[in-house]
Amino acid sequence: MTFIMHNSLYVHIPFCLKRCVYCDFVSGIYDPQKETAYIKALKQEIVNIPDNVSFETLYIGGGTPTALSTGSLNDLIAHIFEQCKFTIDHEATIEANPGTVDIRKLKAILSSGVNPELPQGYQRLRREASGANRISIGVQSFNDDELKTLGRLHTAEEAEKAGSLAKEAGFKNIGIDLIYGIPGQSVNSWIKTLEKAVQLEPDHISTYELTVESGTLLYDHIEKGRLQGPEEEKIIEMYNHTIDFLTAKGFVHYEISNFSMPGYFCRHNLNYWDRGEYYGAGLGAHSFINGKRSYNTGDLEHYIQSLSKNELPVEGSEVITADKALLETFFLGLRKTEGINLEKLSASYGEDIQKVYEKQIRELQRAGLIETYSSSRGFGTSRVTSSGNNRMRLTRQGILLSNEVFIRFM
Ligand code: SF4
Repeated sequence: MTFIMHNSLYVHIPFCLKRCVYCDFVSGIYDPQKETAYIKALKQEIVNIPDNVSFETLYIGGGTPTALSTGSLNDLIAHIFEQCKFTIDHEATIEANPGTVDIRKLKAILSSGVNPELPQGYQRLRREASGANRISIGVQSFNDDELKTLGRLHTAEEAEKAGSLAKEAGFKNIGIDLIYGIPGQSVNSWIKTLEKAVQLEPDHISTYELTVESGTLLYDHIEKGRLQGPEEEKIIEMYNHTIDFLTAKGFVHYEISNFSMPGYFCRHNLNYWDRGEYYGAGLGAHSFINGKRSYNTGDLEHYIQSLSKNELPVEGSEVITADKALLETFFLGLRKTEGINLEKLSASYGEDIQKVYEKQIRELQRAGLIETYSSSRGFGTSRVTSSGNNRMRLTRQGILLSNEVFIRFM
């Protein structure tokens, strides 16, 4: 059989123990009966993934995947590895929330599902490359008041414990997610959260600015004046401090919001920013295959019923035109600190992209928001030169004003 290489598989778990006030993800409150029906439907959807596809990465996200029982997680991960083919060096991430993990569950996650591509008996490799070999912990803050403001279920102590437990269980690739710009948060408090995160020695840290989405409880609180977000200057100070502090601690700033130890970039997310193809399974999950984006229903009952009749739960799709693909390349590629390769882009679109966007590039360069540079030696070792520039990236100021840059290319 000839295998088609698809970079990524995303599997969505739409359950949480409690709804956070800022959340607009596809997720509802955990219920054991719904869990059973959902896992059955999800497994059926996974059976339908063509068997001539080979994946490099898997990402089990949510919601809170670790809200599931240990038995369901075991069952699901084992099923994914039985049904889908993965490359020998696959990366498989599971999102976890503090307060929903114990050592038994973490060890079970790590040992369920073995990539059959691995040589039999190669125990060390088997453990590192089997099941979910990467964990991303939703810490958000190490300050209890801020966690309460966000409506998080866990405490700072539980967050710290989740990090230690992941290490104790044997995870060799651990990420921590943090949020800044929380109402009531001071720059000092953010600095303390970053320091605490680094003390846990994770391999990856994501730092997201809190976004207030309409329709969320947080939006309502802010609208009614019950809460107030930090001022713009404080946000800028927090962001600048984040870059200075984490890079001084040896982390590579490889995407607007993401930092990792060298070699620990999240390959799954890099694939999104590179506009690679991906399959999505689960409630509301998106796929991007053969230039077409499609998405599943976000209605749990409908999802379960469709799959009980073995009908695909796809709700809509869109064929991406060449113009839209180009915009996506700018929008997604400029999120990476290495930016985009203009030569490659021109070759794939059959047009000199630097010429097409000459005016915008010149204006944004003058404003100090982007820079073109020559890169022949790879990530982090490039030189900014005035000639022979084949790459374009955001400057630090451009990162802070990234939306304005993206709008200029639209
Ligand atoms: S844990 Fe994550 S997905 Fe669940 S409610 Fe909170 S923010 Fe949303």
